[in-house]
Amino acid sequence: MSNNVKKSKEDVSLYKGVWVLAEQRDSQLLSVSQELVSEGRKLADDLAVELTAVLLGFDLKEIGKELVAYGADRIIMVENQELKHYRTGPYARVVADLIKQYKPEIVLIGATHNGRDLAPRLSARLQTGLTADCTKLEIDPQKKILLQTRPAFGGNLMATIICPEHRPQMATVRPGVMVKEEPDYKRQGNIIEVSADLSKKDIMSVNKKEAQIIKMDSQLSREDLFTKITDIVKAASKAVNLEEAEIIVAGGRGVGSADGFEVIKELATTLGGEIGASRAVVDEGWIDKEHQVGQTGKTVHPKLYLACGISGAIQHRAGMQDSDIIIAINTDSAASIFEVCDYGIVGDLHEIVPLLNKAFQKVEV
Ligand code: FAD
Repeated sequence: MSNNVKKSKEDVSLYKGVWVLAEQRDSQLLSVSQELVSEGRKLADDLAVELTAVLLGFDLKEIGKELVAYGADRIIMVENQELKHYRTGPYARVVADLIKQYKPEIVLIGATHNGRDLAPRLSARLQTGLTADCTKLEIDPQKKILLQTRPAFGGNLMATIICPEHRPQMATVRPGVMVKEEPDYKRQGNIIEVSADLSKKDIMSVNKKEAQIIKMDSQLSREDLFTKITDIVKAASKAVNLEEAEIIVAGGRGVGSADGFEVIKELATTLGGEIGASRAVVDEGWIDKEHQVGQTGKTVHPKLYLACGISGAIQHRAGMQDSDIIIAINTDSAASIFEVCDYGIVGDLHEIVPLLNKAFQKVEV
């Protein structure tokens, strides 16, 4: 429980349905939302209930259709200029009110920067549990509750967490963890439009044209709009898109220094891939955190993962072991990365990686 005042046991039978809080940036659906809708579909089928995707923002019509294609039965759409960009106050208020009104039994949220900000606030407002960074979600076949599995104790064991007495059961999942299904653009779903006039006081009204809409009783006051977005500055550097990369060349402490990363970067460029890293080198300051793969970094599924000078600690493996092909280069033949690789090369990466680079430069793609 996230609140000091203990909430008494509630009638959980009043809650029905699986929800995914879908996320958009500049009216583009995030990949993690496609993954969560695909996963939510399986949970909803196991429970024989509807899957609803909740979408806040502006100019959302096309995203609504996309969410249906990925498996949602129903979209609750709240369109408003004030919701165009994520802000804690209005988003938390609108979503908490929707949950109180519609009472879903499960709510899934992407563990993005915004999702990590929103999810704990919702769990505190709703006085229910939240399991962060789940790697597996299942329905208990007997009790019909959500089994939320995540690494615990530094990744040395997997804990399955349940929330039996309170609702909704809330979980966050990091991008890249769940598998995205193929979208089916012929699927049909319901789109429910809820309008929120956030510029005036009290202000949650409902588009009455839609037959299914239930009038919201939540009221948004100016308190919910206490922050103002004056500007959005995007990082000037090229965004690292490890989750969607097909080829990743990753370096660990074996590269020896920040300059030692050059050979990794050169090979990644030749192969048209992204650069990955272990936490050790991020902690050393040799490369940015956005390159980190693993339990506290990103989860990746490339076609090819080249692990260079990485020992293969369980926390690193948690983020890359589902890659299609893993090649490991390490001077220590007993390194545990060799337990998960398809091809292993025992040797000095500073000799082997430049040789590979030269060889691949000659290959015409
Ligand atoms: P090391 O363990 O120091 O290994 C370096 C390897 O390089 C060795 O195997 C060595 O034989 C080899 N080597 C040395 N020189 C050369 C050379 N010239 N050529 C080839 N090989 C060479 N780690 C992550 O990576 N990602 C995470 O998300 C993550 N999360 C964590 C979360 C928690 C709660 C904790 C406790 C730890 C986490 N860690 C994570 C850290 C993890 O436990 C390891 O410490 C880390 O992965 C080690 O990084 P490394 O393999 O680069 O370094």
